[in-house]
Amino acid sequence: MNTINQENCQCECGACKLTLSHAPKGRFFCHCEICQKVYKKPYSDVSVMDAQSVSIAEGSPIEYTSYWSGLKRGTCKECGQPVVALLTQFPLLKIAFVPSNTIDNSIQVPDSQAHIFYHRRVDDIDDNLPKVSGFIKSELKATGIILPALK
Ligand SMILES: [Zn+2]
Ligand SMILES: [Zn+2]
Repeated sequence: MNTINQENCQCECGACKLTLSHAPKGRFFCHCEICQKVYKKPYSDVSVMDAQSVSIAEGSPIEYTSYWSGLKRGTCKECGQPVVALLTQFPLLKIAFVPSNTIDNSIQVPDSQAHIFYHRRVDDIDDNLPKVSGFIKSELKATGIILPALK
């Protein structure tokens, strides 16, 4: 796989920049209340990859908030938009969640695989993806998307 050295991902205002060293392999929509709050949207659209493949440009004004142990959600101090969330509770498994809409066209973002936390939805979604309701089932579905997405 080619190594990418150019920033290919940025928040809405452009203050926070990331470089993804390869295309993410997993993607899902999450309707949980935290996503609704952080993304200021009915649901989040996140791409998943191993955190080692995500480098954050020096000086990016990211503020991290932990809503539950392990998951740190980073938002831009300038525009307030999500930049990257990092799951770091497992020593050997560091996972990054990148908002799909911040990834530029040079990266092929995969198709979304599911809607999770669908019981928290603001609106019904009319598409062919699996809709997963319930906390445990949603977590399991997310895990099933995340694990194969790690290289
Ligand atoms: Zn920003
Ligand atoms: Zn969520």
